[in-house]
Amino acid sequence: MAMATLAQHQHSPDDTIHGHGLRMTGQRRAVYDVLMGERNHPTAVEVFTKVRGQVPNISLATVYNCLETLTDCGLVKIVTHERGPSRYCPNLEDHAHFFCDSCGEVSDLPLRARKRPQDVWEVPENITISHHQVAFRGECPKCAKKKNLKSEARNLKSK
Ligand SMILES: [Zn+2]
Ligand SMILES: [Zn+2]
Repeated sequence: MAMATLAQHQHSPDDTIHGHGLRMTGQRRAVYDVLMGERNHPTAVEVFTKVRGQVPNISLATVYNCLETLTDCGLVKIVTHERGPSRYCPNLEDHAHFFCDSCGEVSDLPLRARKRPQDVWEVPENITISHHQVAFRGECPKCAKKKNLKSEARNLKSK
């Protein structure tokens, strides 16, 4: 997994798509660029809203198709969290996701020192990992700060 990820990085996204017998069409590129540009793990609908700015006649179905192609080619990873809609992540390095319970923000937590999942988690030797998804939940720094400010204000009032 880690090796494959590293190897993929040497190729341009165009090469990777070609390797799957497909072409980097304008629509696929537009969708990929939105994911690369924002890095905020958008849903398909959010990608659609952004892409429409550049490709005005693109449909939501086409955006779904592009996302599926990019995922099948290994350029993008699907991120799922509980019952929320699927989100998309172009970061191919092994990483976990942090989900903020307050604002819904999703951010990347890289593995320290590029460790492999087997180095961090107790993985039995007889299982093969094809894909791993690690999720943390909590409060992002922005939301934690907001909460602190609120409780400070409350404390001032009660004095
Ligand atoms: Zn990610
Ligand atoms: Zn937050």
